[in-house]
Amino acid sequence: MTDLLEKLARSELKLGIIAGGQLGKMLIQEASRWAIVTHVLDPDPDCPAKRIATRHVVGDFLDFDTVYEFGKEVDILTYEMENINIEALLKLKEDGYRVVPDPEVLALIQDKGLQKIFYSQHAIPTSSFVCYESRTDIEEAVARKELRYPFVQKLRKGGYDGQGVAVISSASDTLLEGASVVEKKVEIDKEIAVIVARNSAGETRTFPVVEMTFNPQTNLVEDLFCPANISEEEKRTAEALAIEIIEKLDMTGLLAVEFFVDIKGEILVNEVAPRPHNSGHHTIDAVLTSQLEQMLRAILGLPLGSTEMIMPSVMLNLLGEEGHRGDVRYEGLEDVLDIEGVKVHLYGKHQTRPSRKMGHITVLAGTLEEAFQKADSVKSIIKVKSCQK
Ligand code: ADP
Repeated sequence: MTDLLEKLARSELKLGIIAGGQLGKMLIQEASRWAIVTHVLDPDPDCPAKRIATRHVVGDFLDFDTVYEFGKEVDILTYEMENINIEALLKLKEDGYRVVPDPEVLALIQDKGLQKIFYSQHAIPTSSFVCYESRTDIEEAVARKELRYPFVQKLRKGGYDGQGVAVISSASDTLLEGASVVEKKVEIDKEIAVIVARNSAGETRTFPVVEMTFNPQTNLVEDLFCPANISEEEKRTAEALAIEIIEKLDMTGLLAVEFFVDIKGEILVNEVAPRPHNSGHHTIDAVLTSQLEQMLRAILGLPLGSTEMIMPSVMLNLLGEEGHRGDVRYEGLEDVLDIEGVKVHLYGKHQTRPSRKMGHITVLAGTLEEAFQKADSVKSIIKVKSCQK
């Protein structure tokens, strides 16, 4: 038995989590079932994980010393977001502390340019791309007719939830400033995702494929449903690609892989995240092992759990309503909880603002059709508003 598992068996294991947003909170909820002691690092004194973490260190995860000191205190360090001080994680690893997933994998994934180069080096299908140093370089490539509209520009670092991504259709669209990947614009039929886990013994398991619908204004996931409405062959292809990527990265932990299915039915990898993911929220209620439990199993070197689907589900993100800012008030809670199979998750963010992710709802039913019907009712009832004082 490893020392980590010995500590787990004695209820003494200390897990450090970088960032205490909703994913950190959900990971702690799962960790507390195994009596794991949780330390969370987040600059926000009121972050979602604060109320349930054993210890909350208020500090900046981009600061070398803060991350290094935090990592030294725990038996194993993990993260629920990508934008972290990598040098501190690498130094912790060098000094013999456990950081899982490996910081070198995070360094590759943090940079959308390196990520795309990795796919092309390993013949993993993805949209064609070129990396540019600046906005001026892109403008010059357009002027030289090397680059043609439409294309998608992505900042190599720091983007999230559609920030840092611009679809450029003509000269009148505004380019982003900074080192970027410019991708061919895919004619998307569907967006799907697969979460895959791998433990230190090299065992892998995929979660059932999910399908997403996006809000065209905010670029945020609006609904997500499982099982995805794609053929068995497409499912097998997506799952096999997810396994191929985590194996080629030689990564331990949880990897969320987002794909496009283009209008010709080709499956292309969009991007990956080495952490729990929005596209796995439904696994808490609708799959035998949640993505969070699977992540714990993977990083601690335990056997992976069954990813069998319990019931079809639709997951809705609860986003702050337009025109509402300030102290949050959820309208319609009692009425949605009156619908069978509705599971409400509130993240505990006290301040709402338009499109802020405040919670999610998973709707379970015997069939996907039924789950969609219930989800429509839920959407029309629940609203994330601000209190009128
Ligand atoms: P983020 O990391 O911010 O979520 P993504 O790379 O997932 O950014 O892009 C956000 C959204 O932009 C995607 O879900 C998709 O709808 C659209 N998009 C991204 N890349 C392309 C592409 N090459 N072609 C067409 N649409 C794209």
